[in-house]
Amino acid sequence: MSTGADGTLVEAEVAIVGGGMVGAALGALLVRQARIDPARVVVLERERPQAAIAGSAFELRVSAVSRASERILRAAGAWPLLDATRVAPYQSMRVWHEGSAPDGLDALCFDAAAMAERDLGAIIENRNLQVAALKAFEDGGGRLLRETLQDINQQSDAVLLRTSGPMVRARLVVGADGAASRVREAVGIAAPTRGYGERAIVATVACELPHGSTAWQVFLPTGPLALLPLADGHCSLVWSAIDEEAARLLALDEQAFNVALTRASARVLGSLQVVSERRAFPLRRMMAERFSAGRCVLVGDAAHTIHPLAGQGVNQGLLDAAALCEAIADRPPREDPAAPRLLRRYERERRAGNAVVGAVMDQLDAAFRGAPDLTGRIAREGLGWVARSRVLREALTRQALGLSGDLPRYARA
Ligand SMILES: Cc1cc2nc3c(=O)[nH]c(=O)nc-3n(C[C@H](O)[C@H](O)[C@H](O)COP(=O)(O)OP(=O)(O)OC[C@H]3O[C@@H](n4cnc5c(N)ncnc54)[C@H](O)[C@@H]3O)c2cc1C
Repeated sequence: MSTGADGTLVEAEVAIVGGGMVGAALGALLVRQARIDPARVVVLERERPQAAIAGSAFELRVSAVSRASERILRAAGAWPLLDATRVAPYQSMRVWHEGSAPDGLDALCFDAAAMAERDLGAIIENRNLQVAALKAFEDGGGRLLRETLQDINQQSDAVLLRTSGPMVRARLVVGADGAASRVREAVGIAAPTRGYGERAIVATVACELPHGSTAWQVFLPTGPLALLPLADGHCSLVWSAIDEEAARLLALDEQAFNVALTRASARVLGSLQVVSERRAFPLRRMMAERFSAGRCVLVGDAAHTIHPLAGQGVNQGLLDAAALCEAIADRPPREDPAAPRLLRRYERERRAGNAVVGAVMDQLDAAFRGAPDLTGRIAREGLGWVARSRVLREALTRQALGLSGDLPRYARA
């Protein structure tokens, strides 16, 4: 048997490549829920994140984490390990179109209290979530290797992973290594990708008015602008704009950017001021042609990426993790965790879920963007109809909570 760069071999039942939010949460779920010896679950992560220093500025990358995701993270033992001082539950969401007023009748308002829920979700720094999930994984007895995957060799009864450290031999390998997945590439799964022609500008923003534990989003003809409440009173800005507009906004000096931002947000939180650097992320839609090949399976951004306009990326990834863990936990004793039957069950469940959410995001993005043509008008008027219909509003609130559709059991109450 060959050994790795450091002369050692690690034997595993499941090896997860990538200990980002999704891979780390999957590891923590597996060691608690899947009837596998925790010491035989390995996470390979090339960068170990550090917990934030108390009182330090919030990091730029945050996620709106749904109720379904909260439940999954509780089943993984990760939720109680979050730094709660940096978690911002939000009780309402307000969505409007540039052509209407944020507090007008056509603005859509989702309210947790109307659904007898304590909140609609929470805004959490990605690093806070990743640190908590990795700690839950290690506390549960899992083995974290701070190494980089280099190559994969699939054999009939196992997969060999060549890393910057030990060689890893696993029965099942999970690619949780993000949109540019090395696992996906190495096993030859095609990943058709389409650019949205938009970039998301992210920054931390000081607001003149209190954010009111509300997530705010306005649809502009150039793309949606969201202000997400943070625990220290600031907001996290996610301003998606078509490429030319994003380039124009990024070229503005800070004062001019603040003026443009305050105007675009319809002064809903008064005057806004950026208090961090501004960073831009190109937005791409990708869905892997298959979610598994041989003994390798994909989860999270390695399997799919979508527009961030409804904050669904990591929530979908956590549903992948929960569905895969459930399939593994439900297998008969001693069945191979990479049994084709089991991986087919996972793929069937999650391809369908991801395809629906991805298509809805695409439709919303396209409908609100660009010239006021028929589709755009229908979308804008549609927002007004939904705003005035209690039934539709409640259905969308359930969607925002992540509680509609068939859910893996860890996401249910
Ligand atoms: C602007 C923006 C805003 C967003 N807002 C939201 C939101 O509000 N809500 C939401 O649900 N989603 C949101 N998303 C999407 C969300 O950020 C992603 O879906 C999520 O980060 C995917 O997590 P992941 O763990 O699958 O992948 P990643 O976060 O990419 O993690 C992959 C991990 O794998 C590791 N890795 C990669 N290659 C290797 C290797 N060869 N060896 C070892 N380790 C490796 C990396 O170091 C990394 O830690 C947003 C996205 C963008 C761009």
